[in-house]
Amino acid sequence: MIIEARKISRSYGRTPALRDASLSVTAGEILAVMGPSGSGKSTLLHCLAGIFTPDSGEVWFDGRRLDTMGDDPRTRLRRTAFGFVFQFGQLVPELTVTDNVALPLLLGRTKRKDAYKQAAGWLERLGLAEVGGRRTGELSGGQAQRVAIARALVTGPRVLFADEPTGSLDSLTGEQVMELLVGLAREEGTTVIVVTHDARVAACADREVMVCDGRLTDPYGVPDSHVTY
Ligand code: ADP
Ligand code: ADP
Repeated sequence: MIIEARKISRSYGRTPALRDASLSVTAGEILAVMGPSGSGKSTLLHCLAGIFTPDSGEVWFDGRRLDTMGDDPRTRLRRTAFGFVFQFGQLVPELTVTDNVALPLLLGRTKRKDAYKQAAGWLERLGLAEVGGRRTGELSGGQAQRVAIARALVTGPRVLFADEPTGSLDSLTGEQVMELLVGLAREEGTTVIVVTHDARVAACADREVMVCDGRLTDPYGVPDSHVTY
């Protein structure tokens, strides 16, 4: 098990967003988290990624408890072991494609030359070599999401968290971006947890779980807080 949530709950003020959610994700698995808007998908993802701390319950990553970890080790772990792709807004529009992809390595301790070499390798792999010098603000939606994927994978994360990665794209481009993400993740052995409300995107995953009103359910079953999905 690489990621595990044990009966986690989280509220915003009086609004419960997540209730007793239990989930186990095996290494290399590609998991889709589905459910209606406002059901708690993002909150679950943020808790699993150590961005939010749940109010109760436990979150484990690779045998280490994440929710009680101090801020510094948790931030370091997020930078080294996790990658993130969001719907939009995660690229720096004033920087070039290459700079954006090299950025996570430069923020770590990778030497400049190595960072740019690795960034170039990923751009090549994603068919983006020819746009490396462009500013990301000038790219199409599909291109921008491919750059975001390259940037999320450049550090070699164990787990990639994606929140509606195809949400701003038309359905054809969305499917292509998702297929690309899944293909790369499989090649790298990366675990992927993807939040989506698009059934076609979810169909690329190994497994689907559903969040309804803050509870995890089987996509075809009923909510049960005693079950670990
Ligand atoms: P989803 O990702 O499924 O759309 P969210 O996890 O974003 O769901 O939200 C779950 C619930 O928590 C919703 O009722 C939402 O309005 C509420 N919520 C989410 N973020 C906040 C916040 N920062 N402040 C207050 N309520 C929030
Ligand atoms: P999603 O695409 O995941 O459904 P939302 O539009 O629900 O995203 O939320 C976008 C951001 O706004 C998130 O960071 C979330 O925490 C925050 N948010 C969502 N609902 C509320 C709310 N009721 N009050 C304050 N912030 C919210």
